[in-house]
Amino acid sequence: MSAEQPKLDDVFGQTPLGILPLSRGTADRNCMAREELDFLNRVLADERTRALIMVEHRAPVDGGELALVPVPAQIVFQYNQNNCDYQLVYLGKAGGADVVLIPMEPESPHLPDSLQQLPWLGLRDIAAALDDDSAGFFVEALAIHQWLENSAFCPRCGSSTTVVASGWVRTCDREGRQIFPRTDPAVICAIVDDTDRILLGAAARWGGTRFSTLAGFVEPGESLEGAVVREIKEEANLDVADPQYLGSQPWPFPRSLMLGFTARALNPEQAEADGQEILAVRWFSKAALAEEVSTGRIQVPGQSSIARKLIEHWYGGPLPEATTLEN
Ligand SMILES: [Zn+2]
Repeated sequence: MSAEQPKLDDVFGQTPLGILPLSRGTADRNCMAREELDFLNRVLADERTRALIMVEHRAPVDGGELALVPVPAQIVFQYNQNNCDYQLVYLGKAGGADVVLIPMEPESPHLPDSLQQLPWLGLRDIAAALDDDSAGFFVEALAIHQWLENSAFCPRCGSSTTVVASGWVRTCDREGRQIFPRTDPAVICAIVDDTDRILLGAAARWGGTRFSTLAGFVEPGESLEGAVVREIKEEANLDVADPQYLGSQPWPFPRSLMLGFTARALNPEQAEADGQEILAVRWFSKAALAEEVSTGRIQVPGQSSIARKLIEHWYGGPLPEATTLEN
């Protein structure tokens, strides 16, 4: 989208996992300006402003970019009348133009004709193939939109709320206090042993043949390292030591931030699935994993996931081609 793409390594620095598919958002979110009163009215008055239209969490894609369109005039009119059918959110700047999210329904009368013929894709389907700005805006849009969808009421007193700050804050209609978007941290870990094997687990919700790294949410009052040790004990009955941070990416399904780790198993032969969340755990050598994946006997997580990057970081490069399921 923008003429000058920043080099992501220069912006974020090097991490062991490198730049992850959903961590490429470098657009200026313009977060001070978006809090100003009537900021969105001014943005909508600028004919350079572009809209990202999202329908049921899918976005129109044209080549390797999101297809952005001028804001439909009727929506600008509605917004200025304080009678807008849509929950607009300011996303930031791309190539000098402001970008606004407009979530719509499939039957919306304001869906632009120019988008009807394009493929509408979900973030997991397309993230790895999008350019950096598009991937960043899609992740941001999906995350903030789902917060708005799921946070209509004040979590303390249950009253209704009003959206302010161009979509980024709610205020409680009774108490007047501000309510900000939330993100749930989750740890995900490549467990290795002293013979350079990796432990992968088959989650019940994926049917038992898709093997991935173990993961879990950080609990209140817990450190990231503490969450790694606890989750692996719970899911695989393993004691691990020396959790090392490798990189992170947002995972807006609906609001996780995945923090990637590796850790060393202290008692590898005790590995045992919990039988509930995880149906089976297995140690894989590099040769064994390559064989199982390439023959299709097991599946591994999709290209957009940090799990895939953790496995490939241990493996030392891309896994052989095979059928994969996106995660
Ligand atoms: Zn309240």
